[in-house]
Amino acid sequence: MTETLLEVRELKKYFPVKSGFLFKSGDHVHAVDGVSLSVKPGRTLGLVGESGCGKTTTGKTILKLTEPTGGQIFFKGENITDLTRPEMKRVRRQMQMIFQDPFSSLNPRHTIGSILASPLEIHGLADEKNMEEIISGLLNKVGLSSEAMRRYPHEFSGGQRQRIGIARALALYPELIIADEPVSALDVSIQAQIINLMKDLQEELGLAYIIIAHDLSIISHISDEIAVMYLGKIVEKASSADLYAEPLHPYSRALISAVPVPDPEFKKKRMILKGDVPSPITPPAGCRFHPRCPHRFEPCDKEEPFLRSIGKENRLVACHLKL
Ligand code: SF4
Repeated sequence: MTETLLEVRELKKYFPVKSGFLFKSGDHVHAVDGVSLSVKPGRTLGLVGESGCGKTTTGKTILKLTEPTGGQIFFKGENITDLTRPEMKRVRRQMQMIFQDPFSSLNPRHTIGSILASPLEIHGLADEKNMEEIISGLLNKVGLSSEAMRRYPHEFSGGQRQRIGIARALALYPELIIADEPVSALDVSIQAQIINLMKDLQEELGLAYIIIAHDLSIISHISDEIAVMYLGKIVEKASSADLYAEPLHPYSRALISAVPVPDPEFKKKRMILKGDVPSPITPPAGCRFHPRCPHRFEPCDKEEPFLRSIGKENRLVACHLKL
């Protein structure tokens, strides 16, 4: 399958800020500022960057949980950018989200059965006769017993709750799941189990994923392609293997140098980034990374580098350096 399932062109999401002592009326948080990406059926795109870089807002805007300020979103060739909420109901069935904190996204007063029944009822995908059977099938698919449907969220561990979050996302037979930091709230020992479950479900159901994470090591082995985000923009896009082996953008290099290597003999040179992430309300001119970049030179604080091909297949980098 080579057709594109999701295509996002120059997506923007700005949030107005309240005027006050520090900010004037008309200022905006430039959370997502011209992001383009695409995902093919059955494939995984990893979206990585420090917290506050705009990756979660990118995911929510793609699903139109928040309306885009600009740009276009195509799902299965249909431009869904301007669809109204009722019109999105049809599309949203096929595009689901998994959240970072499964506990806060599961209503503590409802049983797991009623949490999983809710989307099925809204979309008319089950009736009283087959509801229990469908819910049981969903729970079994994510490695939980059918008996879980009669229990409440607080009776489960973090890993089990994330399995329930995945079951809820699967209930509507989606083709694309956007998973926002799906394992970062879990113990390290449980993280691999959830990632492996997602991988197995992808193979079985042909799902496509966008997996959002701040930690590259978590998503590198499930992602086919990785896009690195910094301050609302994608600064590098490459296959997961290429990015891991040879990151080219100075920011990607810093992110990869921070990934721990499980080999005491292997000494890795860690690149420590100086300074904080600048404010997305007044992003730096030119390259947004220039105040922290150890390689900055003459044009970097004036001219914005755009994502460009550097002659290697499917490899894009936004940097003035000769790469
Ligand atoms: Fe660094 Fe300049 Fe490249 Fe930006 S454009 S990452 S400041 S070298």
